[in-house]
Amino acid sequence: MIIILRPAATDAHIEELTDILRARGLGIHLSRGVETTIVGAIGALDEEKAALAEQLTALSYVERVVPISKPYKVVGRAFRPEGTVVRVRGVEIGGSRLCVMAGPCTVESPTQLLDTARFVKEHGAHVLRGGAFKPSTSPYSFHGMGEEGLRLLAEARDETGLPVITEVMDARDLDMVCGYADILQVGTRNMTNFSLLRAIGECRRPVMLKRGWASTIEEWMQAAEYIASRGNYEIILCERGIRTFESYTRNTFDINAIPAVKELSHLPIIADPAHGTGRWSLVGAVARGAVAAGADGIMVEVHPAPEKALKDGGQSLKFESFAELMRGIAPIAAAVDRSL
Ligand code: PEP
Ligand code: MN
Repeated sequence: MIIILRPAATDAHIEELTDILRARGLGIHLSRGVETTIVGAIGALDEEKAALAEQLTALSYVERVVPISKPYKVVGRAFRPEGTVVRVRGVEIGGSRLCVMAGPCTVESPTQLLDTARFVKEHGAHVLRGGAFKPSTSPYSFHGMGEEGLRLLAEARDETGLPVITEVMDARDLDMVCGYADILQVGTRNMTNFSLLRAIGECRRPVMLKRGWASTIEEWMQAAEYIASRGNYEIILCERGIRTFESYTRNTFDINAIPAVKELSHLPIIADPAHGTGRWSLVGAVARGAVAAGADGIMVEVHPAPEKALKDGGQSLKFESFAELMRGIAPIAAAVDRSL
């Protein structure tokens, strides 16, 4: 259940309330908005909920108690109606400005990464992406440069000022990846790796959780809840396409997910039209559609020579195509009251 406090509630009131909830053995999550503080109380048994709600409603500083019937609670819209803004080194994800994440699928070399980072920065990107640990369907494909790739990302950040996002695949690598990355990425193949999600929930580092390629929106929300339930609320969701019967595109970008997530959750959502289509020629149009649908930003893959890319070359934009994409989304952003 969530407990919505009156605007006049003080810190002492919040402490009194959390003491009551703790004494009941409930998990507590606090959301302090500009106007309202909301306390999430997780774990009450069904048969005790009505009496507990009555007891709490009687407190002078409690405005109302709302039962949550959904299987996800802390990431649900009701917990933070005003929406979450994730802040990383001066970049906001979920605010009025769109966030553009761009960079190569995979870090391949110092020049490949730095040239790309400089170009995307110059053309308006806010976050640099690049994989150092790459999940691959085939055990024989390239699996990334590992820690050396992370080092190159950190160097590119130092030079360009762009915060970096990179995938972590294994909870055992988490400390190492946190040593370099500003935002962790959980890839589609790991959306249901619950031990990884729990470990990320324990660390205080923003994380972008990609939707599983065969997961429903509700399953995705529950994966996010795994992270939030451990106290890490700095979560960004990413729609990256799901598998359907269509084979012309690598995946089917689910545009429905964007307004649906906005309805269901307070978390920001990024669109990934690169993995969503698998074809560079479709990336710009799908990016524009996602921005029009209310996405908080986009993530795209950019490579100096996509034909030579070690991974995902077919969906990676050449530099000039990235510049064109940025020109293309500007009027759409303006039409939905977002700046770039
Ligand atoms: C990626 O971002 O390069 C990636 C591997 O994404 P996904 O997990 O969505 O396939
Ligand atoms: Mn990729």
